[in-house]
Amino acid sequence: MLNEFDLINRYFADRTLTRADVVTGIGDDAAVIALPVEQKLVVAVDTLVCGVHFSNDASPYDIGYKALAVNLSDFAAMAAVPTWMTLSLTLPQCSESWLKDFSEGLLALAEEFSIELVGGDTTRGPLSVTVQLMGVQSKDEASVLRSGARPGDLVYVTGCLGDAGLGLLVSQGILPVNKVFDSAVQRLHRPRARVEFGQALSGLATAGIDVSDGFLADLGHIIEASHVGARLNLDVIPLSHAYHYLETAGLAHLLVKEEAELSLAPSLKFALSAGDDYELCFTIPPEQQEQLDAVAASMECMITPVGTIETGASMVGVDVLGKEIQLAKRGYQHF
Ligand code: ADP
Ligand code: MG
Repeated sequence: MLNEFDLINRYFADRTLTRADVVTGIGDDAAVIALPVEQKLVVAVDTLVCGVHFSNDASPYDIGYKALAVNLSDFAAMAAVPTWMTLSLTLPQCSESWLKDFSEGLLALAEEFSIELVGGDTTRGPLSVTVQLMGVQSKDEASVLRSGARPGDLVYVTGCLGDAGLGLLVSQGILPVNKVFDSAVQRLHRPRARVEFGQALSGLATAGIDVSDGFLADLGHIIEASHVGARLNLDVIPLSHAYHYLETAGLAHLLVKEEAELSLAPSLKFALSAGDDYELCFTIPPEQQEQLDAVAASMECMITPVGTIETGASMVGVDVLGKEIQLAKRGYQHF
């Protein structure tokens, strides 16, 4: 039977890449890192709890991957560069096959971004995974905050909205298993944070956030922090092929629980409020649009202008006929 220290060495210390700026990594009472003087330190932390963020039968590889991916998405939103992380792991038992797959998922993604695992904590209890991600940003480079949106700015979103939500419905058996939903399911389990594109938004975007709780809720955070309102063009919200399939197959009604008082089409309402997308929502002044388009094209990052920031405090959607719909800033909340 593996003891706690063998476990840490075998699955984490011996498998992480090592960076030159880490003076002392896993194995002592704390990690010691040599901070470059011209950089600011950026820190984010996220916890995934079994039964809340992933199901009992989730693949350990995916759990490890996602525990880092959700933090990378926060870094993308801030335009920061990830470099080091710690891992707090609570396990009901010591399963070597589980640990092997989990550490592979976590450390393979870490390697892609040259992140060293510098320490952590291992305890027994209900399965829960906390990754704390640390990184840097040049002192003369601006973080992209939630509070910088100004009336007249354009609202953009990367990629398509609501796919991870569809993936969740497939895994819950509410939507049928079908090839057309494969990429949505993949999106749920292995989200790709927009790290490089997020970094490129420093100095371009006036505000930004990652879409983790649902687009309306997250744009709602920008609006509140910036003391502004927003107007969205509902007919240009980017939806994937899976949504078009749901419409043509007559399955869109499966996306909403109650049919009553629907001011939006079921699929659009779902896509605007489903969580776990890990796309970026950001605002830019219109005069930066050309430069933004060039950056997005060079990085092959799909972006869509979906609306504008205005004075006030409300979010209004405008449908294809010009009708205005008041939008609630609600998304997933634990409490
Ligand atoms: P302490 O009791 O001093 O907090 P621990 O016994 O908890 O130290 O951990 C021993 C070493 O292993 C520390 O350097 C700690 O950062 C590291 N560590 C513990 N658990 C993990 C883990 N899951 N992943 C990475 N490093 C870990
Ligand atoms: Mg400890």
